Amino acid sequence: MKKLEKVRRQFIWGGPACKNKIKWVAWDKITTPRVVGGLGIGSIRSLNLALLTKWLWRLKNEPNSFWVQIINGLHKLVGVNNRFGAKNPWSSVWHNIAKSIKKLEQINIPFGNVMHYEESSSTWVSPFVSDGQFCVAALRDRIERASFPVCDGIFPWIKSIPLKVLGFIWRAKQNRIPSADALKTRGVSLESTVCGACNSAEETGDHILATCSLAREVFRLIFHWCGLPEMDFHSVLDIIKFASTWGNCPKKRCKLITILYGTVWCLWIARNERIFKKIVMKAERIVADVKSMSYVWIKHRGENGSLDWRVGNFSPLFC
Ligand SMILES: [Zn+2]
Repeated sequence: MKKLEKVRRQFIWGGPACKNKIKWVAWDKITTPRVVGGLGIGSIRSLNLALLTKWLWRLKNEPNSFWVQIINGLHKLVGVNNRFGAKNPWSSVWHNIAKSIKKLEQINIPFGNVMHYEESSSTWVSPFVSDGQFCVAALRDRIERASFPVCDGIFPWIKSIPLKVLGFIWRAKQNRIPSADALKTRGVSLESTVCGACNSAEETGDHILATCSLAREVFRLIFHWCGLPEMDFHSVLDIIKFASTWGNCPKKRCKLITILYGTVWCLWIARNERIFKKIVMKAERIVADVKSMSYVWIKHRGENGSLDWRVGNFSPLFC
């Protein structure tokens, strides 16, 4: 299982050739479900535990299966509804399966919450069963939430926004992007860590994307375009919080999130153009990019591709 996790880690971080690449986010944050602020790719360990638990469910629900009769015979489980335990130590396979009860309880998931015997109906019931099938994915999700109580707020994963952009903003929220100060902290030597756009502050992720005078000017123009009162953000987290709680109409909110995430993404691109290609982009040019990019995202990737560019140009939050 450790080897499998290693392969997955190498894939996410860019392959074994990139051994010395900086790992920007802790692995447990990557496997943590999105509902608790993670990236939600899930761990093999939790998948394995959920799969093992499914065997326990099958043991009690398929009494006529040949394998169940063998297990019941070996471990003398017939007629003992609440027992799963392995009697004979030589049967290590079943022993491992039965141990999953303990493993669940170690992460504060009482086995009774996963499945229990109902005396009144003489049946086993489980909240993880739907349409008669034990849902491994649902249990895995529950296990991961219990295993990783890392919670730094809900992050809106909006369909209309490309995954690479969402992934970038998710990282930026935790200050895990290659800004000058972050690179320096990780031992990369740089001539200067001062922001090249304003030359007046340390280049941190929050500075590039929220507090730099260039970012402030871009947000001012974007808010003007949206017909909203101006806002000064202090961090990427500020932007996410504002966007994900704004207004009462979910459709409009979704559009605003798309526009503001597009703004953050375009500010990052502008920063990279300046550093790596020596191209200086003015605020107006960045805003034009945000407008066309968010238009394309909403039109082609959003659930209601009804944004009219002419309407969008004057009142993007119209719905
Ligand atoms: Zn700056």
